[in-house]
Amino acid sequence: MHDKSTKLSLMDPDEALHFMKASVDQGLSAETASSRLDLEGANTLDEAPKEHIYLVFLRQFTDLTVLVLLVSAVISSFIGESSDTWAIVLIVILNAVLGLFHEVRAEKAMAALGRLTHTKASVLRDSQWQNLPSEELVPGDIVSIEAGDKVPADVRILEAYSLEIDESTLTGESQPVTKTSNVMTQAYTLLADQKNLLFKGTSVNRGRATGLVYATGMKTELGKIARLLSQNKRRITPLQIRLSVFGKRLAFIVLALCTLLFLMGLYRGEPTLQILMIALSIAVAAIPEALPAVVTILLSLGARTMSKQNALVKKLPAVETLGSVTFICTDKTGTLTENRMKINSLGVSDVIIPVEKFALKDEQSRWFAKSLLLNNDARIVPGQSPMGDPTEIAMLDIGTTLGFSKETLDKEFPRISEVPFTSERMMMSTLHKVNDSEIIILKGAPEKVIPLCVNELRGDHSAIFEHKNTLRTAGQMAAEGLRVMAFAMKTGFDHHKEKIDHNDEVNFTFIGLIGLIDPPRLGALKAIQDCKKASVKVVMITGDHPTTAKAIAKKLGMLDANLSADQDAESVMTGAQLAKIDEQDLLKRVKAIRVYARTSPEQKIRIVKALQASGEVVAMTGDGVNDAPALKCADIGVAMGKGGTDVAREAAHMILLDDNFATVVVAIKEGRRIFDNIRKFVRYVLTGNSGEIWALVLAPLFGMPLPLLPIQILFVNLLTDGLPGIALASEPADRHILSRPPRPPQESIFAHGLWQHALWIGLLLAFATLTAFHLGARTSHQHGQTMAFTVLTLGQLFHVVVIRSETDSIFSLGISGNKQLMAVVGLTAL
Ligand code: ADP
Ligand code: MG
Repeated sequence: MHDKSTKLSLMDPDEALHFMKASVDQGLSAETASSRLDLEGANTLDEAPKEHIYLVFLRQFTDLTVLVLLVSAVISSFIGESSDTWAIVLIVILNAVLGLFHEVRAEKAMAALGRLTHTKASVLRDSQWQNLPSEELVPGDIVSIEAGDKVPADVRILEAYSLEIDESTLTGESQPVTKTSNVMTQAYTLLADQKNLLFKGTSVNRGRATGLVYATGMKTELGKIARLLSQNKRRITPLQIRLSVFGKRLAFIVLALCTLLFLMGLYRGEPTLQILMIALSIAVAAIPEALPAVVTILLSLGARTMSKQNALVKKLPAVETLGSVTFICTDKTGTLTENRMKINSLGVSDVIIPVEKFALKDEQSRWFAKSLLLNNDARIVPGQSPMGDPTEIAMLDIGTTLGFSKETLDKEFPRISEVPFTSERMMMSTLHKVNDSEIIILKGAPEKVIPLCVNELRGDHSAIFEHKNTLRTAGQMAAEGLRVMAFAMKTGFDHHKEKIDHNDEVNFTFIGLIGLIDPPRLGALKAIQDCKKASVKVVMITGDHPTTAKAIAKKLGMLDANLSADQDAESVMTGAQLAKIDEQDLLKRVKAIRVYARTSPEQKIRIVKALQASGEVVAMTGDGVNDAPALKCADIGVAMGKGGTDVAREAAHMILLDDNFATVVVAIKEGRRIFDNIRKFVRYVLTGNSGEIWALVLAPLFGMPLPLLPIQILFVNLLTDGLPGIALASEPADRHILSRPPRPPQESIFAHGLWQHALWIGLLLAFATLTAFHLGARTSHQHGQTMAFTVLTLGQLFHVVVIRSETDSIFSLGISGNKQLMAVVGLTAL
């Protein structure tokens, strides 16, 4: 353990601030920060050393085909065909260069994706809270962290509320630890014992804290062990594994076939070396060496296209899985809706008042307005829009419009303590000083807050509270699709309070309700219609009230506008119902449910598992800490790039940069397109190879001499496999791509007659080649080989143009759809 951290853990917050030459009110100035940044370096970890480029280059020569080629080079030099030898060597090197180029390109694309996922930290500088990239943090910075954040540096806690940290990244201990700002009474040496320090890379499970950065970058505890962590492992997708297994199997079959041909040739008494050469040519022709590499490129190019459309794929296999998604489970707030909250109306006992008509006329309305600003963590940033939870920004807005200032109120009623919001509690309470006494202000979901109230403020007085009327009012507001929250307060404590205890949260005085509009996102409606056509089912999972959730689901077309009571019960489930239902019943019902309301994030994982158990492929969105397990478990875990937490982003397979539901659908479409293109490539390569094999195997049967020289076959493969294959990556999506059902995930890439196509079209190609050879050979053998070569190459190029779509013909497709492919084909033909 570091000296400095032990020292800091033994100081109280003021001493710690003094020690680090920092101020908790102003933070560092921009100049101090920038000079400390020069001194200490950026708050990043050194990257693990990369594989050296020449090692990558050398690895290209370990391929099976390359080895076969090298053997044939040696043999050629034996037969005295030294020009062949050189040509083969040249081709092998060219092949390795292309391989290297592809790998470096894929590596770069992945690195660029990695950079986009870097985190931001909330920092106090020049007396203002700002969101800065966490690389810019320096010792002495004051940072604020909350549930879901990754701790951006090593930090001494100055203030903490219900803070629980997951330190498993550092200590391996998965049990979360509670942390406080309290001074340690003895010098501990173990990380796990440092209860008032937070360490970079750990994550905040719950609560909120402000803290003082004391170490950054490689000087943090994480930095010290970073070198030990294995990084940058090469990732392989299931499809790549399947293809490389397939390639190896094919290679063995082909080698066996070649051996057989070789032995037969020997038996017939043909010259040994020449027959060996033919056998090797067939081997070269048959082994689809470009397959795994091109698939990687298609996948990573696909990932890049997706990131341009705001879907950041973190793990390459996700691109492949996306194409077979059958269920999308999505959040409501912020994903289906804008999360741009606006208060629409306020409810007091049994009246609903439109927000424009609400006036400060009595004690009740004044306390209402004040609590909007006091139980509120939104921060005012001069010259900018406020930072924080959109609900609270909306409250800030109205409170300010009503003539109060949050800054003044915060001074008049300073906040002493709080119990932060959690999705389980669905409430948050704050304790404030009022003159000589204290007041608790509570806000949260109406069903949670209302039962805690015994009185209500009515006009200038307090009256007995009628639960029923108020719940009915809340229900009416929710039925309009409003997100409803209730406010209450409590005063008159016997002795001075410093903290809110659990048993304080009773006997409240009800203040009122607010109803917030959160408009559906532009494009969400269309995206949901697209899903319907594409047989992808959309499910809403929300913490909001079932009435609100249902109203919005109907607006978005996820639920029928006039559901019968039965259908209603079938397609909507609340968290409480979900908690009661057993696994068997859930399995029976899960496919019909479209809205889950008042759920806690922990229940998401049950929903994912139930859907998966009924054979569905599930994409699940999430943004909170508690969503992480469900995101990991889902086939495609989707985290939010703007609103989400670091923890969720880390667990996800894909990140939505714009937090927009429609982007998930775009990504699914892209995933289908990429898989289609990979299939096209496989079909194309196998057909070409089969044509070459047919030609070589059939020629002797027709009593013809060798129709193609080995070097010609090598050349054809080099020309026709790689570049046109990659150009297929820019093949646009099929017209029907979103109107067909998802691909079953177990379906083989060779499904739908791909094999048969390869065999028969290959045979056709072979006949054309042999016919050309036959015609040409009437002048001379060489002339025949040249003609065979030309026909084979052009035939393959023609083939790639024709198979661009599995459903549309070239005539309806036109040739302008994929300019890149046409250019490559033209170049190759030349
Ligand atoms: P969702 O984002 O899916 O609507 P949440 O879990 O965020 O669900 O919220 C659940 C409920 O908790 C909300 O419907 C609201 O009543 C309440 N709530 C949300 N945010 C806050 C907050 N900052 N303070 C108090 N209560 C809140
Ligand atoms: Mg929320």
